[in-house]
Amino acid sequence: MSSIETALVEVALPVPLFQTFTYAIDPEAGRVPVAGSRVLVPFRNRKEIGICLGPADGARLRQKAKLIIEAPDDEPALSESMLALCRWIADYYIVPIGIALRTALPAAMAGAAQPQPVRKTHRVVRLRQDLPTITHREKAFARAPQQRAVFEMLESLGGASTVEHLLRQLAFSPSVLRGLEKRGLLRIEAEEVDRDPFALRPAGSAARLEATAAQHAAIESLKLGSAGEVFLLHGITGSGKTLVYIELLRQLVDGRGQTGIVLVPEIALTPQTVDRFRAVFGDRIAVLHSALSDGERYDAWLALKRGQKRIAVGARSAIFAPLANLGAIIVDEEHESSYKQGETPRYHAREVAIVRARSEGAIVVLGSATPSLESWTNVASGKYTLLSLPDRVGGGKLPRVEVVDLRRRAAGSMDASKGSGTGYQAVIREELDTELAKTLSRGEQSILLLNRRGYSSFVQCNDCGDVVVCPNCSITLTLHRAPERLLCHYCSHQEPLRAKCARCGGDTLKNRGLGTQQIERLLGDRFPSARIARMDVDTTSGKWAHAEILDRVAAKEVDILLGTQMIAKGLDFPNVTLVGVVDADVGINLPDFRASERCFQLLSQVAGRAGRGPKGGRVLIQTRLPAHHAVRCALTHDYHTFVGEELKGRVKPAYPPTVRLANIVFSGTNDRATAEMAENGADWISSLLRTHTGAEVTLVGPAPCPIERVKTRWRWHVLLKSENSSELTRVARYFMERFDVPPALRVTLDRDPVALL
Ligand code: ADP
Ligand code: ZN
Repeated sequence: MSSIETALVEVALPVPLFQTFTYAIDPEAGRVPVAGSRVLVPFRNRKEIGICLGPADGARLRQKAKLIIEAPDDEPALSESMLALCRWIADYYIVPIGIALRTALPAAMAGAAQPQPVRKTHRVVRLRQDLPTITHREKAFARAPQQRAVFEMLESLGGASTVEHLLRQLAFSPSVLRGLEKRGLLRIEAEEVDRDPFALRPAGSAARLEATAAQHAAIESLKLGSAGEVFLLHGITGSGKTLVYIELLRQLVDGRGQTGIVLVPEIALTPQTVDRFRAVFGDRIAVLHSALSDGERYDAWLALKRGQKRIAVGARSAIFAPLANLGAIIVDEEHESSYKQGETPRYHAREVAIVRARSEGAIVVLGSATPSLESWTNVASGKYTLLSLPDRVGGGKLPRVEVVDLRRRAAGSMDASKGSGTGYQAVIREELDTELAKTLSRGEQSILLLNRRGYSSFVQCNDCGDVVVCPNCSITLTLHRAPERLLCHYCSHQEPLRAKCARCGGDTLKNRGLGTQQIERLLGDRFPSARIARMDVDTTSGKWAHAEILDRVAAKEVDILLGTQMIAKGLDFPNVTLVGVVDADVGINLPDFRASERCFQLLSQVAGRAGRGPKGGRVLIQTRLPAHHAVRCALTHDYHTFVGEELKGRVKPAYPPTVRLANIVFSGTNDRATAEMAENGADWISSLLRTHTGAEVTLVGPAPCPIERVKTRWRWHVLLKSENSSELTRVARYFMERFDVPPALRVTLDRDPVALL
């Protein structure tokens, strides 16, 4: 008879309960799940997919364990080390283990059945013969230059391509392919291919660049990195960080048979970077694009798990790529807040990367021109190893950055105090206008940043001053054109533009504050023959929208690229010689402790887009706050001074990296009930802190959140602060597991929040 241990298993379910569950296995029916396998189980009156954590002893059972319905996986979906990683996420971010595990698996695995990799067939062309010498070639293709072109194109593509790619993208004619096939130089056949949406995007040439001395030194240090070591690669914009990543991976993947993960802030924004990796590693890379369908994502996941793909490139969730024998995890632009997930589990991919690397013996490379204060402090304390690329490749200089003071009266403007008036001259000041005109006349390109989408940022009554706000959220509605409507950027509430003020009935509603749509119109009027492209959330909803806009910029089909922070990252266009920041102060006064840091990073990043070619470049920053340290240090590209000043401001009151934070948000649709719960929660924590001896945790609040209401829910919060991370965990966990949340109300916890709004 089998013992009770083998008949019962512990199962984690993706439900908001801090516990695991015990189920029984029917020994007659099918396979016995092992740790990491998915199981389908009855839960309440539904079925849930859970993850088996291993055998259970049944000690906590109060009733007879229910039987598992099905164990669909041939092999465990999650390896031992991925289970351990999810346990860490559950512990550190204080979420149920079942929810952490669900996050680590592709969505297709959340269904009950074994997902089937769905593969498309394509007609694929393969070379059949080598023509090793020039003489061979000249003889073979003497009267067939088109055939030679196809032949050599296939060679440069590694010997194979799809028919579709050759005909559509490369515009060869079908008769040329048939001719080569007839001569036995290639064959065409149907093949299953991965649903890799990048497969048809040409990867560009893999011309190998010679590393500069600084790049070489960084690569050598990384090669000698010890298991779990974290490197901060601090390289100014244009210093060639990507080449360091590529050469490191080349060593690990080709030389040592290892694998790697490359995290980028948002894959759609960085087609150039992705193309460079693809050019080198070809089909050994899985690009985990956010626009992949569930099926495509599953295909990529499986190919990584089976070792068919060796490198995963993607946004934060790529940290869960099921690669074995991991050599390195690269986190490009490590300071980006998009690495933090905005919903449960609110993990930070950079922190998860460090934990995963430590447990799997890999190294971590954090790259940035403007490292987060957290990472910089970890260098100072000796936790991370600093590597620097202090110069631009090829002796290029960082562009000259100048300030345009928006407090000065605009030429031709009647009212200087209303600097945000909507006339072109008030918006694009003379200095910037002159540079734009010069850049256009030289046939060079400009980038203009305004980190606010829409047409104007709010609508205000000229008589009573009332501002139109969202009925669901405590923020103003933004005016959008084409189609004209008022839109909430938090909940997407829409309404038509009003004719009269809802409060006083006045009929002089004014559009205030600039958005990218308005700048686009003003620029179009000023430079009617300029080709202007706008890149923001509203113009980039399609799967390839970003890449299409950027491809047009690369092909010099765009004179002025205008956009939100989307245009600040990673772009490398040598013909861009002017960068203008229309209003640097957007966001700088937000009631958030990271507002200055984010502003400095954004200005430095966007400034770094200028002058990447031999023609050099200039940057003009329009601001009302030229003395603010974020603006001042961006002017001189002075990261170190910025960090010094910013750190001083994080001591009193204490904010990260001086202390660790957990932000506990109480929310509900009833204003009073929410406030009451926040008061109770704060009292509950205060008394815990009083009785819990040795707790080095302080409580701040309760207070309404800076944005008091979002999607009809009122929001209050308290902050837990501590220099001691494990104490913070203990207090926060104790609270989250035991505090009674009244029905219809909600409590969420955000560990290491990137924003407190
Ligand atoms: P970063 O990411 O640090 O801003 P990139 O990696 O985009 O910089 O590199 C900037 C430019 O320099 C790119 O066009 C890249 O191809 C080029 N580059 C990088 N390293 C070298 C090198 N060793 N030799 C020649 N060009 C290089
Ligand atoms: Zn809203």
